[in-house]
Amino acid sequence: MSLLRAVRPWTQWIAGRGFDIDKGEPDLSESDVREKIGILIGDPVIGLDIVRTSIWYVNQAYVTQYSRGRVFCGGDAVHRHPPSSGLGNNTCVQDAHNLGWKLAYSVKGWARPKLLESYSQERAPVGKQVVQRANQSRLDYAPLNACFRVQGAENAVAAGIVRFRDPGPEGVAARKAAQAALDLKQTESSTPKASR
Ligand SMILES: Cc1cc2nc3c(=O)[nH]c(=O)nc-3n(C[C@H](O)[C@H](O)[C@H](O)COP(=O)(O)OP(=O)(O)OC[C@H]3O[C@@H](n4cnc5c(N)ncnc54)[C@H](O)[C@@H]3O)c2cc1C
Repeated sequence: MSLLRAVRPWTQWIAGRGFDIDKGEPDLSESDVREKIGILIGDPVIGLDIVRTSIWYVNQAYVTQYSRGRVFCGGDAVHRHPPSSGLGNNTCVQDAHNLGWKLAYSVKGWARPKLLESYSQERAPVGKQVVQRANQSRLDYAPLNACFRVQGAENAVAAGIVRFRDPGPEGVAARKAAQAALDLKQTESSTPKASR
């Protein structure tokens, strides 16, 4: 599975794709990357400049204490999770906002040092919740993905789309499953069910 994310519309993009973790890290040679992007966008000869390639893994990690003494941590250093639901950067900015004004008040002598203790108390539970929410959102995409694939087929996605368009019972079942998968995304509870 691959996807494109706009960095600078419409000239700079992130082209991401999943890989089978059991088969080791994927080939990131320029020729392979060009070929995969060509398949993704349906144009194998388009001119591309590749700025950077990297390998990234889904995380489910959070710490329970953001500060000790004079040391204060925030951002991805204390909570890591997949991009699903777009929560990462927002949570980092919220950490910085929470800590910034408290530091200023303490440094200027407007508040007692105890104010700074509230940073970890307030932000650590949010970090945990966000990590669990983002991972749950990722898991909730799995049924949708499954509707568009036929396992074991030479081209699983092409076969999945043929099945999806089938007017017979298999197509009806696939379309119903897709509706159920969309409904799941609509009705996600704010409390994550799963944490792996
Ligand atoms: C593929 C992907 C898609 C994402 N999509 C979204 C999205 O849609 N919405 C959203 O809100 N968030 C998204 N995020 C998450 C978001 O990008 C991160 O949560 C955010 O950038 C983390 O900010 P940060 O400042 O904590 O860490 P970083 O941005 O990682 O910054 C840390 C900095 O520290 C530097 N550094 C590391 N070690 C050292 C060292 N020893 N000395 C000095 N400097 C060092 C690094 O070079 C880096 O510049 C996505 C992330 C990924 C990977």
